Amino acid sequence: MRRISIFGATGSVGDQTVELIERAGGPRAFHTVALTGGRNISRLAEQARALRAEIAVCADPADLPALRDALAGTATETAAGPQAIAEAADRPADWTMSAIVGAAGLVPSLRALSHGATLALANKESLVTAGPLLMATAAAHGTRILPVDSEHSAIFQALTGEDIASVERIILTASGGALRDWPLSALAAATVKEALAHPNWAMGQRITIDSASMFNKALEVIETREYFGIAPDRIEVIVHPESIIHSMVGFSDGAIMAHLGAPDMRHPIGYALNWPQRAALPVARLDLAQMATLTFRAPDLARYPALRLAREVMAIHGLAGAAFNAAKEIALDRFLDGAIGFMDMAAVVEETLNRLSSETSLGKDAETLEDVLAMDHLARTRAAEAAVILRKSG
Ligand code: NAD
Ligand code: MG
Repeated sequence: MRRISIFGATGSVGDQTVELIERAGGPRAFHTVALTGGRNISRLAEQARALRAEIAVCADPADLPALRDALAGTATETAAGPQAIAEAADRPADWTMSAIVGAAGLVPSLRALSHGATLALANKESLVTAGPLLMATAAAHGTRILPVDSEHSAIFQALTGEDIASVERIILTASGGALRDWPLSALAAATVKEALAHPNWAMGQRITIDSASMFNKALEVIETREYFGIAPDRIEVIVHPESIIHSMVGFSDGAIMAHLGAPDMRHPIGYALNWPQRAALPVARLDLAQMATLTFRAPDLARYPALRLAREVMAIHGLAGAAFNAAKEIALDRFLDGAIGFMDMAAVVEETLNRLSSETSLGKDAETLEDVLAMDHLARTRAAEAAVILRKSG
């Protein structure tokens, strides 16, 4: 029986992963090793019961008694805290879903790769913060990373049977997020609620705001570079409001392979779960005649400074990705708690990168996890300072 683990099981991607595992037979078809979650203890316990998990781990030790109570009478072990999550990733599994949001997903990704699990990677932050380390760990252990981000799954599928050397360009599609059609001058005053009204995708709160600001696409450009090893100048972004084309690969003969489908994360999750086979998935089938048109437009860099910053980060490389992601996480926290405005997020990230460029060697290779975590920590401190200054002057 295939052994599986899901990190971030209670989140949007994690929960859809559990759903697909249950549809495929649940505990009759899979042996569930570890499930981890953040604050939603009742959901985590429910999932652990349904899949008969070996262990359920919650992020905060304060929630452990509640998790224990909820799993009383089952054979599922319980644990809590970042260390316990990392140890759960050490348990042998054949397939691991990395779907924690943010830099907190990096350690479980790395630890799962170190014992041979195929890693289904939704946590793009792992590649943004420590791409070379992650890819080297996978290579050293002969393990495989399967992308779960819809764009990267699309690219992966478009590359099947192709020689990567014949790839001329990769075109990432972006919906443009909730504020896509707002006048530029109104963006500064956008509220959290407005930025959360995503037109096409139902996702976790953080990635939904990141879609509106295109910080999500900025992370994905970097993710593309790290995962596929494509030069930054070959990676393009195009706004495609319908989110039907999930991304495209352009080849040296001028052909473009596009991946189309309904905007439903159960496709890329299911693809990674069944790879290298394909299995029936409960996603809507496209009616192209009814759809009639698909539209495209170039992204406006004044509207989306995050895209410009991603280019700068790729030019620096090294530890810049870890700094960029950490600063973005702090900026997002400050936007969510109302301390800074929507457009201030990019200002905080830019100021953090500027300060770190003069203060440290951002371009230094991220050789160890400790290097990455130290830069993550420093960037969080600098970003918090930048947010305070911005708030005072704003
Ligand atoms: P989410 O917020 O819905 O869920 C995140 C999960 O991580 C939850 O289980 C949460 O409890 C857990 N978590 C949060 N902080 C944690 C911490 N510090 N320690 C341990 N666990 C923690 O997020 P999501 O939308 O499912 O996204 C998960 C990842 O997948 C992100 O990296 C996101 O960028 C990526 N992704 C998501 C989607 C989507 O459709 N939701 C699409 C593509 C990529
Ligand atoms: Mg995506």
